[in-house]
Amino acid sequence: MSIAARLERLTQKIAAAAAKGRQAHADIRLVAVTKGVRPDRIEEAVAAGVTDIGENKVQELLPKYEFFKARQLSAGLVWHFVGSLQRNKVRHIVGLVDLIQSVDRLSLLEEIDKKAAQKDIIQRVLVQVNIAGEATKHGISPVELIPFLVDASKLEHVKVDGLMTIAPLTTDSKALRGVFSKMRRVFEDARRAAVSGVEMRYLSMGMTQDFEVAIEEKANMVRVGRALFR
Ligand SMILES: *Cc1c(COP(=O)(O)O)cnc(C)c1O
Repeated sequence: MSIAARLERLTQKIAAAAAKGRQAHADIRLVAVTKGVRPDRIEEAVAAGVTDIGENKVQELLPKYEFFKARQLSAGLVWHFVGSLQRNKVRHIVGLVDLIQSVDRLSLLEEIDKKAAQKDIIQRVLVQVNIAGEATKHGISPVELIPFLVDASKLEHVKVDGLMTIAPLTTDSKALRGVFSKMRRVFEDARRAAVSGVEMRYLSMGMTQDFEVAIEEKANMVRVGRALFR
């Protein structure tokens, strides 16, 4: 199946899940995760209507970014960094990606702030939450989230725009829904906390295996790779 056909099928599924979750389809942002995908195939996805591109490795993101820039196709493209990020790589992506979705510790956020200050920009980020408390996953624990947001609000060159999470790998759909609904409550609590300078605009959750449940539980940003490219 062509990437365009896959995108169309995915878009229909997103629309159906949005209806089920009482969300407007237009409010749900699709990030195409392109790790391991060749630039020409990403180009095909962009031609079919993809606007948001997510990468999880700095060394993979940079050449792809250059590919699109060299072809003058980068206007209108929005880049997301979704992988675990080392502090020494921060300088490569600050100001280049629109949203760093994977901020999981204060030392990382401080480094982003420092590099953004040097470039005289404000870097938008999401805070990654370890919603299921998995030892193997990165992220701030829900109980530490509000203090973290308060710390984040003191940094002048970063702007928190919401939360991101990666659900556990499971085929137990009830457990999965429980995880997403817990995340939704964490998001709503963070919004109610109304930390100044922090916005709870995006709830980024849901991937190929679970984006429909995530949207039903109010995700408004999904990160999908395999359903588009494999
Ligand atoms: C790979 C990846 C995705 C997309 O996963 P698929 O199963 O390919 O849809 C989403 N989020 C993150 C953080 C990823 O690393």
